[in-house]
Amino acid sequence: MALEFRCKNVGVVCNASIEADTEEDLLTKIAGHAADAHGVAQLTATLVNYAKSTVEETEGRASSS
Ligand SMILES: [Zn+2]
Repeated sequence: MALEFRCKNVGVVCNASIEADTEEDLLTKIAGHAADAHGVAQLTATLVNYAKSTVEETEGRASSS
């Protein structure tokens, strides 16, 4: 099981999807992506909470079988 965040789920026109095993790791990756791809220097608590509300659980490791 992994956690997945998709930019488009928060209304951003972006096809990026970010996966991590833990919420903490996921939020770190989201912050990095937001800074690199969207010029958001720092996520506010409101943005973090909004992002968390859209996070989905996935099976993970979809490419291995
Ligand atoms: Zn994005």
